[in-house]
Amino acid sequence: KGGGRKKREKPNILITGTPGTGKTTTALSLASATGFRHINVSDLVKEKNLHDGWDEELECYVLNEDLVCDELEDLMDGGGNIVDYHGCDFFPERWFDLVAVLQSDNSFLHGRLTKRGYTGKKLSNNIECEIFQVLLEEANESYPEDIVVALRSDTVEDIDANVAYLSRWLTTWMTD
Ligand code: ADP
Ligand code: MN
Repeated sequence: KGGGRKKREKPNILITGTPGTGKTTTALSLASATGFRHINVSDLVKEKNLHDGWDEELECYVLNEDLVCDELEDLMDGGGNIVDYHGCDFFPERWFDLVAVLQSDNSFLHGRLTKRGYTGKKLSNNIECEIFQVLLEEANESYPEDIVVALRSDTVEDIDANVAYLSRWLTTWMTD
């Protein structure tokens, strides 16, 4: 699986995308369908203090990349992980066998973020992030193109289809 990539018994999947595109919903559903471990990086950063303080302007923790990578290294070596985070350029490339980038049309995303209480700069930053496909570009720059997939996440049906697709992908990887 990938030239020189260390063979794991189970693959690791990264689910990335702009906040509100459905990463956590998708990852939880995929985890319950497959028994894979869901790792919500934002939650982990808070729980284990893997950050360098609070960014007042962006209203989020300033993630410490080295601390996060050290924390996850052993788990990732073992495989069987679904990593959920709105960034992807600082993880070691070798960790992932598939990078799924969720994408939502703004007509859906705007409402989801507003409902979450995002306003002002935080709201507009995230909307722009999605319009300019920042995460897809980041994934394409950080991983081999044959492991990056963009998945539409506008509706609940899309989530179900994405979970079904990712489950099949996992099963195929493990039986190949
Ligand atoms: P993320 O983890 O990417 O920030 P969440 O999974 O927390 O996104 O989803 C944010 C909100 O939007 C939740 O209320 C979720 O139910 C809703 N949502 C996300 N994706 C979809 C989708 N494809 N269809 C319908 N609702 C969605
Ligand atoms: Mn989330």
